[in-house]
Amino acid sequence: MNFDIPEHIVLLQDTLRRFVARHMPRESAARWDKENHFPREVFKQLADLGLLGLTFPEKYGGTGRDILATLVVIEELSRRSLAVSVPYIMGSCYAGMNLLECGSERQKRELLPKVASGDLIFAYGWSEPDVGADVASVKTRATRVGNHVVINGSKRFCSGADICDYIYTLVRSSDSEAKSGALSFVLVPPHTPGVTITRIESLGMKGAATTDVTFTDVRVPIENVMNEEAGWNRGWSMISGAGLDVEKLEVAAISLGLAAAALDDAWDYAQQRTQFGRPISEYQSIRHKLADMKTQVHAARLVTHHAAWLANEGRRCGVETSMAKLFAAETAKSVALDAQTIFGAYGYVKDFDIERNVRDALLMPIIGGSSAIQRNNIANWLGLGRSK
Ligand SMILES: Cc1cc2nc3c(=O)[nH]c(=O)nc-3n(C[C@H](O)[C@H](O)[C@H](O)COP(=O)(O)OP(=O)(O)OC[C@H]3O[C@@H](n4cnc5c(N)ncnc54)[C@H](O)[C@@H]3O)c2cc1C
Repeated sequence: MNFDIPEHIVLLQDTLRRFVARHMPRESAARWDKENHFPREVFKQLADLGLLGLTFPEKYGGTGRDILATLVVIEELSRRSLAVSVPYIMGSCYAGMNLLECGSERQKRELLPKVASGDLIFAYGWSEPDVGADVASVKTRATRVGNHVVINGSKRFCSGADICDYIYTLVRSSDSEAKSGALSFVLVPPHTPGVTITRIESLGMKGAATTDVTFTDVRVPIENVMNEEAGWNRGWSMISGAGLDVEKLEVAAISLGLAAAALDDAWDYAQQRTQFGRPISEYQSIRHKLADMKTQVHAARLVTHHAAWLANEGRRCGVETSMAKLFAAETAKSVALDAQTIFGAYGYVKDFDIERNVRDALLMPIIGGSSAIQRNNIANWLGLGRSK
């Protein structure tokens, strides 16, 4: 076994830390959060560094599929601001990975170079008012009319719909009861007539604002179905493929960034804040809390990087990616809340980043398959018996 971080990853971390210090100062991150603003100019600079092409090969304009590198970018950006890291995922992962794995050759050649240049991001239109974890039960309906698809229905929690280029919309495309033959994915430009987007006020994850989207007789050409004609009614296999494993890891990487930032800030604050004539870092309750937080973050990083390595090797990793998502998301929540405790009253006001960090971290166990769903996956896929 070799636990050394590869040299190209160390270089990447170094580059990103300099990038974040220069282009994403703390004051800007606080403003993007307050204004629910996507700093597109910062995102475009990530493309200039070649970071949006880390998920697909050079022949489509990328730099080669490197899942660990992708996760390191997500973690480093998330340490400072989800207003940049979430759109990064919408480009490199939502668009890049789905097009590479599921798109037609024409879609890959036409769209992947735009992902690499920072000119194409997807928003996920999967959840609906009555559809959460059970995505296969979506009701938004798509019907074929000649060479077009007509869509009617509504999506909830479609994050970034008003900043994206395509809503990657999961639709019911046949009356079949089986999951496998009834769903399709359609790429819907958000400005298509009949699309209405309304922002939802959320606690955190500002920048790629979450939205309600309604589709009223929305018409797009059949070329906009993922994998075109061959993708019609093949949506379920696109959800349950390797992309799902990486999607869990994306949330694990955001969680790692949030946890690491909360830990670093609390570590520094504990040494600066003096009460009863001593830095609070001298009190055992604070020392033990910080030692536990360090341990949790280290363990979360190991489990996430191990799952990333399996995924990059193309090995089966459904259990490991669920473990990584579960553990990293719960770590982000508990580390952020512990950090807030160390900040005391200052953890509850907007003077420090920890207040935003807590709001963002509370989301991690909810999105990308809740902690309960990951526990179900782990127990079911490891064959844990139950009475009939
Ligand atoms: C800020 C934000 C951004 C989001 N962005 C997007 C997005 O871009 N695109 C998108 O499509 N969706 C998005 N979502 C939706 C998110 O993916 C949903 O939270 C998810 O689909 C689960 O749905 P739900 O939260 O309504 O929970 P439900 O599925 O209704 O579950 C409710 C509760 O029951 C539990 N539960 C459900 N089923 C089971 C089960 N089988 N076993 C045990 N427990 C179970 C859950 O863990 C949860 O605690 C976003 C949500 C938020 C809050």
